[in-house]
Amino acid sequence: MTPPDLPPLRDVIRKHALTARKSLGQHFLLDLNLTKRIVRTAGDLTDCHVIEVGPGPGGLTRALLNSPALTVTVVEKDDRCLAVMEDLKTAYGDRLRIVAADALETDIPALTSAPRKIVANLPYNVGTPLFLRWLREIDAYRGLTLMFQTEVAQRLTAQPQTKAYGRLSVITQWLCEVHSAFNLSKDAFTPPPKVASTVSNLAPLPAPLAPVPFEAMETVTATAFGQRRKMLRTSLKSLDLDLAALEIDPTARAEELSIMDFCQLARALVESRA
Ligand code: SAM
Repeated sequence: MTPPDLPPLRDVIRKHALTARKSLGQHFLLDLNLTKRIVRTAGDLTDCHVIEVGPGPGGLTRALLNSPALTVTVVEKDDRCLAVMEDLKTAYGDRLRIVAADALETDIPALTSAPRKIVANLPYNVGTPLFLRWLREIDAYRGLTLMFQTEVAQRLTAQPQTKAYGRLSVITQWLCEVHSAFNLSKDAFTPPPKVASTVSNLAPLPAPLAPVPFEAMETVTATAFGQRRKMLRTSLKSLDLDLAALEIDPTARAEELSIMDFCQLARALVESRA
């Protein structure tokens, strides 16, 4: 399909008086080569229903609509951006679905049928809570292609014994294959944020590395990394687990444990509470 003839994004911003609001984490991507690159990173979208959280002035939305995705559902809470989306709908028709809502309060899988992929340049202020929510329901998605602050993206792929390794690394790698696809400098955005960004690509594993409940993984990782400089016998004291019986060194620190160690802790927690 030939893409419709659309005005430049800067004209769209002017028309809708879309001055960026900090409270909504608004840093727009106006370079259409970059938005195309994000869509390429998401892989084959041929039979997918794509969800974009926070379309803003619609640069990434255009690239998604120019892909073979079956539908593109946008979730946006700024009325000005919703007006931009209505203009795009006139150009692209019903393949674009507009949801006026706060993504934090939206049941995303209920918006569209499977297979689903989320592709988004996330608002930084709510990026991590949104991402944790999607991890919790990871079975609902075929893939996630997400722009994060580089520091957050590094946490997703971090290995044990590194400073970046933490709760987000463990839970992400327990459920997904994850890689950092490419970096973007601050200047790629309008207005530029304070830090650089990275596009992360996540493919859910066919099954989690070990079958333990999400809540138990959240509890053990939050407890262990909550006091990451302390030995596990201190940081995990409140959970009352027999670390030696799990062959986990009570004098080790959280960042020395592998993901499988955390799965073992989570399993022991479930058993101890049964
Ligand atoms: N996708 C656009 C781009 O790449 O230019 C805009 C990205 S901007 C970083 C984040 C977008 O998320 C903004 O459009 C903002 O209004 C929207 N947003 C912020 N908080 C939101 C929330 N809780 N629910 C839905 N959208 C939100």
